[in-house]
Amino acid sequence: MWYSGITIIPKRVTMEKIQHTSLSDLVAGKLADLILNGTYMPGYQLAAERDLTKQFGVSRTTLREALKALEEINLIEARHGAGWFVSTLNESNLAKAHQIASSAKGTIPSIEEMEGEGSPAGPRRLPVAPEKPLIIPNLKTDRLGTFQLISWWEREKVQNARVMVVGAGALGNEVIKNLVLMGVGYIYIVDFDTIELANLSRSILYRESDSGRRKAEVAAARAKEINPYVHVQYLHGDVTTAIGLGVFRRMDVIIGCLDNREARLAVNRFAYWVNKPWVDGAIQEFLGLARVFVPGQGACFECTLTEQARRDLSIRYSCPLLARENILLGKVPTTPTIASIIGAIQSQEALKLIHGKPVEAGRVMHFNGMTNEMHTTSYTPVEDCESHWSYGEITELPLRVNATKFSELLQIAHRDLGPDAVIELDQELIIALTCPNCKTREEVLEPISQVGFNRAHCPTCGVLRETEMTHTITGKEIFLNKSLAMMGVPPLHILRALNSKEFRFYEMTGDLPDALHFSHFEIPELHKTFSIRNRIRLHEKVTLLEKPHITLHEKVDLDDSETIKIE
Ligand SMILES: [Zn+2]
Ligand SMILES: [Zn+2]
Repeated sequence: MWYSGITIIPKRVTMEKIQHTSLSDLVAGKLADLILNGTYMPGYQLAAERDLTKQFGVSRTTLREALKALEEINLIEARHGAGWFVSTLNESNLAKAHQIASSAKGTIPSIEEMEGEGSPAGPRRLPVAPEKPLIIPNLKTDRLGTFQLISWWEREKVQNARVMVVGAGALGNEVIKNLVLMGVGYIYIVDFDTIELANLSRSILYRESDSGRRKAEVAAARAKEINPYVHVQYLHGDVTTAIGLGVFRRMDVIIGCLDNREARLAVNRFAYWVNKPWVDGAIQEFLGLARVFVPGQGACFECTLTEQARRDLSIRYSCPLLARENILLGKVPTTPTIASIIGAIQSQEALKLIHGKPVEAGRVMHFNGMTNEMHTTSYTPVEDCESHWSYGEITELPLRVNATKFSELLQIAHRDLGPDAVIELDQELIIALTCPNCKTREEVLEPISQVGFNRAHCPTCGVLRETEMTHTITGKEIFLNKSLAMMGVPPLHILRALNSKEFRFYEMTGDLPDALHFSHFEIPELHKTFSIRNRIRLHEKVTLLEKPHITLHEKVDLDDSETIKIE
């Protein structure tokens, strides 16, 4: 028995043996109980073994013994490749189930106790998947037909899924290729780079003749070529500044195929703000890792940063113009093979997220291609992590960033939040550059993304100038008559307004038709031809104007927080 740390072991009886046998009996008893009380009904699938081990707090070996014991009395049965299912109940196995269940009563915590709020790592029972009706696909005419044979594959979900792929390098190429092969319906591709010959050794989507062309555009065009039934949109721009948050808000999954920390941090925060899962991947030589971050479930990307990494980021941010330049440096050697492996895992994780299947959020999977070792580890969530913010209810304004002045938006904020309301921008605005040497001051009024490091130096004496920046619009600025777009606010962005008590979130929804259409490289005739031949259901339209399904969170209350400060 277990007396908080003190264990009395009788002579000649090893501890392992006692615990081993009894624990698996207890788990078997609990499972039998769940079947008897109808939690698991006949024909239903038990939770995955991994989840069950967590649920009961036992090792996999112990769990397997328990499952075997239940299988022996015909209470459950294994289906190859699918898992454990509850058998049909009859007199014989019912009697035995009662016997097993009664011997385990009250010995390990019940599920109800464990489901309490205080246990975030608690049991997650898989949603019950009723048996799929058997459909024989026509593999001659239906390119996605084979997937129908996968027991849990839901074609509709995959066809309606919206996935953003950030980065169209080695990983991005693999991920995009996989997504289009699997028929993921709506793919949004982002990259700010152009194709160089060196990319060709790791990028299945690029050709020699593409040299100098934009990666995002070429990747989108090739994706459409591989599978004309998917819808693509590309954006040639920097993920940290060029994509409106409203785009993130309308995605199901975001896949990061990035090579730098700054971009990952940006994607992480955007995903958190609009409560979307994202899948990160990283590769170097023969090493790679993949990880899923889900807001509210374990650690996020920022939580994983070491103290040193945080310091590096803050050092770089202390000279903001230099920081941006540096992102482009530090290229890492990779191979197409490691890109395939990690890109494949990322794609599969995205597929699981699309299906609502469990993922191991906040954990990392490392793959070492030299030793062929793969291992996963958990990250510890950081309590006061700066990324852990979710936007509250979002107000959709029929406004566009290029036709709305700061004064107009401020007016709306004042109406909703009172005269003290200010607007917070996600990007720093460079107000002016001042030379400490010759004291000249150059007014800039441009977003930081548009000001290169070369401009940091004084044109007269060459000294590094001081940067005057702001990201808070109070109403006193001299650029209130400029449009949001002119100051770097991307289309379909969601802006934060706040007073001393609460936030409001305004989306520039007037940009929606232009900012999110998934209609690049569409060939209208092609669709007609295909629908006449009735190859595939193509009538599924992009319902962009419908209200997106997002979870609305409580408003962030400033009184409860110390992490956001108003200047
Ligand atoms: Zn975090
Ligand atoms: Zn100067």
